Amino acid sequence: MRIGHGYDVHRLKQGRKCILCGVEIPSELGPDGHSDADVPVHALMDALLGALALGDIGAHFPPSDNKWKDASSIELLKTVYKLVKSNGYSLVNADITIVLESPRLFEHIQKMREKLAETLKTDLNAISVKATTEEKLGFTGDGSGISATAVVLLEPL
Ligand code: MG
Repeated sequence: MRIGHGYDVHRLKQGRKCILCGVEIPSELGPDGHSDADVPVHALMDALLGALALGDIGAHFPPSDNKWKDASSIELLKTVYKLVKSNGYSLVNADITIVLESPRLFEHIQKMREKLAETLKTDLNAISVKATTEEKLGFTGDGSGISATAVVLLEPL
C-alpha cells in the first residue's frame, strides 16, 4: 500500500467561478489561477502523484504551457488517475479537507463526493470531502484565499 498527501492554495478573486471538486458553487469570489483553479482537486492530484513519488502537478501540467489554460481540473484528475493505474495501483480511499471562510460548503459536500467518485470510478464511501473555516484567522479567515489538503491510500491492482 502507498499513502500520499497533497496541499494547495489559491487566491480568491472577484468574478472568478468557484469550482470545487468539479461542482460550481454560487459565490461572488472564486479561486484565481491558470486552470479552473479547483483547489481540492489540485490537492487530490498531488496526493495521488505523491503516493507513487511521481512528482507534482506543476511538473505534469506546467502553468507555463498554454495547453492547461482554463483546463478542467476534473479532466486533469482523470489523466493523473490513469497514470496511477498504469503504474499498477488503484485508490482505496481519499480524504479531502477544504478550508474556506465563505460561502459555507455543507450543502454541496454530497455533490462533490459524487463528482469525484464518478470521475475516479470508485464507491462513494471511498471519497470523503470535509469543509472547515479557520475562525477568521489568516488568509483563509480574511477571505483572501482558499486552501485544501488531501490524503489518499493506494493499493496494488
Ligand atoms: Mg493549484
